Amino acid sequence: MNYVSTRGNDQSMKAAEAIVAGIAADGGLFVPTAIPKVTPDFIAALSDQPYTERAKAVLKLFLEDYTEDELTVCVESAYGGGKFDVKAVAPSRPVGDMTLLELWHGPTSAFKDMALQLLPHLLSTALKKTGAKEDVLILAATSGDTGKAAMAGFADVPRTKILVFFPDGGVSEMQRLQMVTQMGSNVAAVAVKGNFDDAQSGVKAIFGDAALAEKLAVLGFRLSSANSINWGRLAPQIAYYFSAYADLLQRGTIKNGDAVNFTVPTGNFGNILAGFYARQMGLPIGKLVCASNRNDVLTDFLRTGYYDRNREFYKTITPSMDILISSNLERLLYHLTGDPSRVRGWMQSLAEEGRYDCGVGLLQRLQNFFWADWADDAKTKAAIREVYDAHRYVMDPHTAVAWAAAHSYRSRTKDERPMVVVSTASPYKFNDSVLSALGENTARSPFALLDALAAKNADPVPAGLAALKDVPVLHDRTCARADMAAEVLAFAAKG
Ligand SMILES: *Cc1c(COP(=O)(O)O)cnc(C)c1O
Repeated sequence: MNYVSTRGNDQSMKAAEAIVAGIAADGGLFVPTAIPKVTPDFIAALSDQPYTERAKAVLKLFLEDYTEDELTVCVESAYGGGKFDVKAVAPSRPVGDMTLLELWHGPTSAFKDMALQLLPHLLSTALKKTGAKEDVLILAATSGDTGKAAMAGFADVPRTKILVFFPDGGVSEMQRLQMVTQMGSNVAAVAVKGNFDDAQSGVKAIFGDAALAEKLAVLGFRLSSANSINWGRLAPQIAYYFSAYADLLQRGTIKNGDAVNFTVPTGNFGNILAGFYARQMGLPIGKLVCASNRNDVLTDFLRTGYYDRNREFYKTITPSMDILISSNLERLLYHLTGDPSRVRGWMQSLAEEGRYDCGVGLLQRLQNFFWADWADDAKTKAAIREVYDAHRYVMDPHTAVAWAAAHSYRSRTKDERPMVVVSTASPYKFNDSVLSALGENTARSPFALLDALAAKNADPVPAGLAALKDVPVLHDRTCARADMAAEVLAFAAKG
């Protein structure tokens, strides 16, 4: 199977090459030329397998150029060895009349771990397979979760190094501690004086700096990014849709072939797009419900076909969904139209005018697969409180946005098929908002808040968060926006 650009240049490559390249030369995203199909037997066979085997079975179909042995090493390195704090890796848990798919049992307690624990191994293997001479230096600008998950994923992975920039004073104290204490001989985090946009525009400028690229090449590095446009970050996410379905089969909630709906808290459209791939492969998925916060650009798009980012940007209690441009939508538009020139036109219009209209025909097709709704902070907090009162289960705010959308979908459409709500973060990562939703005083230190939530939650504080109290700070550099490139060079030169 080959990969091509959504924007239609002729370049076609194997999965390993696409993973090394990250983004296509014409600015498009890599997509598979055909989506592999599975049989009901394939799905049935997953139900008594561990997560590593389920993931391997699905990945094998997309990463045909990786050998069985290579994939085994990759999935075992990512999901084996006790890195996740439950044996199931991605357990699905019945709560009330829905099932929650918990994707936050990895080392950083966020769903990003599902992909970022595996991507570094896929990349390191790909470097070997493609005979690439240079090692990879990963750069990331982060407003919180991605930075830590990427550092943890790349830590000590051969032939890679990772440098994360975060805004000085612009991430939560917990998130800052998670990054500055990350161990590994090949990782670093630097605070940038400025806000997230300064850090991000600084990283973008570095990616476009040809002179810097030459200096890095002399040092033996090529730059790459850890954000969700890389195919190696998307492919791992397809597996947990199969895994959730296999769990429902095993539990007897469904018979093989019964359709299941999923609701996904959405930002960059990577998670929910993985659900679309699973559906196209033949996993019996009914509707994919796209849940947004007050930044409801996707809700409008899926209802009207009109994408318009020219609107106010809101900071919400679900920061990982505070996004106005959902990059992975481009892949969906490609698969539904098969027409790279139309995709290119829409993306050009998005870049130049901040909007595009996909037309009525395509809107109808989109609506066969997707339904959308959004919840503001008040509704999100109400969902956290309701679920806690009824079931003594504590949800994080992102999951709560999805919970609210799932209920709104059910009550408006009367579709009673089983619903899986995708749960994307441990509530312990958002103690402040969760405790305030539960009516608690939140004017306390971050660690006091952890303890306060632990008193209400049957699930223990994740080890990685509890340990932050005692681990030493390893990364204490701060730099100006103008000095970011110098930081990159110094980091690459360091042994
Ligand atoms: C990244 C993230 C999301 C959004 O996922 P996308 O793949 O970007 O749509 C939702 N919730 C949490 C907690 C996240 O970290």
